[in-house]
Amino acid sequence: MKNKTIYFSMYSIKNQGLLFVFLFTIAISFGQKEKFKGQPPIKIVPTTSKPVQKQWKGDYNFPDHGITFSNTFDGARLNGIIQNNDSTYTALITSENTPVNMSPWYAFKVWGNSKQTINLVLTYQESIKHRYYPKLSYDGKHWTTLDSLRYEAIDKGDETFGSRALPKSVKLQLDISPDTLWVAGQELQNSHLVNSWMDSLTQRSYITKNTIGSSTEGRPLNMIRVGKKTPKNMIMIISRQHPPEVTGYLAMKAFVETLSSDSKLAKKFRKTFTTFVVPLMNPDGVDGGFWRHNAGGIDLNRDWANFNQPETRAVKDFMEGVVAKHQGKFYFGIDFHSTWDDIYYTVDPKLKGNMPNLVTDWLEQLKEKIPGYDPNISPNDNLIPTAVSRNYFFVKHGAEALVFEVGDNTSRDFLKTKAIMGANALMKLMLENIKTIN
Ligand SMILES: [Zn+2]
Repeated sequence: MKNKTIYFSMYSIKNQGLLFVFLFTIAISFGQKEKFKGQPPIKIVPTTSKPVQKQWKGDYNFPDHGITFSNTFDGARLNGIIQNNDSTYTALITSENTPVNMSPWYAFKVWGNSKQTINLVLTYQESIKHRYYPKLSYDGKHWTTLDSLRYEAIDKGDETFGSRALPKSVKLQLDISPDTLWVAGQELQNSHLVNSWMDSLTQRSYITKNTIGSSTEGRPLNMIRVGKKTPKNMIMIISRQHPPEVTGYLAMKAFVETLSSDSKLAKKFRKTFTTFVVPLMNPDGVDGGFWRHNAGGIDLNRDWANFNQPETRAVKDFMEGVVAKHQGKFYFGIDFHSTWDDIYYTVDPKLKGNMPNLVTDWLEQLKEKIPGYDPNISPNDNLIPTAVSRNYFFVKHGAEALVFEVGDNTSRDFLKTKAIMGANALMKLMLENIKTIN
């Protein structure tokens, strides 16, 4: 009924002013991108370990056409593949356990005896849809996105944004040759590559790497320290609690590189502040290609109240230990993630930590510095039980804290620019603020 009335009044409209307002509203709604409103409040769930299913590792050979698919590398999943006809194959990707959120993280290598073009259909377990746009590489390090003409969405959702917009499966057209082609849901950044990045930073005299614990499967939990050996004023940075969240990791990298740089500002910052970084919170999940959990089958970012998992416990023990040892204070804590679009989950500014208003002022500056950039900021005052890292950083340490979420498809150049600008703005603000505190 309501729609009919609007339809009728549109055509009987005599008031030009009203028509203008109507058209203007339409223009705005088409011209403006829908803003991501963020996730619903987090659920408190038990975090004692559960079983996970690891993927079978090996080569899938199709000798009739001389083609081999393989998942023999660390990161992401390929759980099965069949040949449908001369040129079409169907792959199945499954998660480490359920329930799990919609982040099916796939990757495989493929090569052939001769040059040929094939279709590859990516399918997922029940109720899971395709999320990550395919990236291609010939060395597993440098990636390009698949040409959109070679990408066909099958059974696409009817909404424009988020999980309801996703297709059930996709068909990719791939050129096969004797050169190994990598296809992946996001650039593969496994523990080997993360460790090489950390090692490259430790070439600088003021950066050291050490191990603060072991993961469930015994991988080292590595941390770097940027700045003084005897820290008083500290900041904490973590990323990759959730394995496929590569864009958050890439932003974290640029952020940390800026704090570690030779700029005048960074040098000054390091005289006052020491930064601790755990870039890979979930090395088992990342190398095992898990969609969300650690090898204990748990979402680590629900375990910051109970600390049942060794990965969260290692950071807690480190932070509480370093505060006790040096009578220092954490002023800032940031946890990098990825989701549908850029968003910041902050602590409600009415709650005051060790450097009140830091996060609000910082995000305001970041918006001003990047013309047209207006991401959602979602503050929260419901911090107990702490459950997520941000709440633990704030409640236990008084560190002004936030979750910094980068869109899955945010351009890699833009996310770097934003992280560099963000790091510079943060250093300036913290240096100004500390004067009035000490
Ligand atoms: Zn996440």
